[in-house]
Amino acid sequence: MKTLALVAHDKKKDALITLVKRHEKTLSAYKLVATGTTGGRIREACPKLDISTVKSGPLGGDQQIGALIAEGKVHGLIFYLDPLTPMPHDVDVKALMRLSAVYNIPMALNEATAEHLLSGTSFA
Ligand code: PGA
Repeated sequence: MKTLALVAHDKKKDALITLVKRHEKTLSAYKLVATGTTGGRIREACPKLDISTVKSGPLGGDQQIGALIAEGKVHGLIFYLDPLTPMPHDVDVKALMRLSAVYNIPMALNEATAEHLLSGTSFA
């Protein structure tokens, strides 16, 4: 079973939850891993999904997901960025995007791409 990572910045968490609810059936075919707060929200909204969590993003969670990508344990990333708010962990955000590019995993950074990937099952 493949693993997808899900991360959303605070102002984007509602949008990610909407996506997850809409695609719950598709997502149930994957193991999910999420940063702490994002994962808590997903668990609350869709308790049947198989989701584990790492630390909160600003406390190292983005880096933990990056490490999982480097180890070949994460096969796709949905990362709802907030491009309008400065982040204390901006370097971690960049590092996560960089590793997704290095390991050539499907990476959705906004709603349009995430919808496209989940609808087309491009993560399969
Ligand atoms: P969070 O982390 O899910 O713990 O809020 C996300 C992030 O800010 O990278």
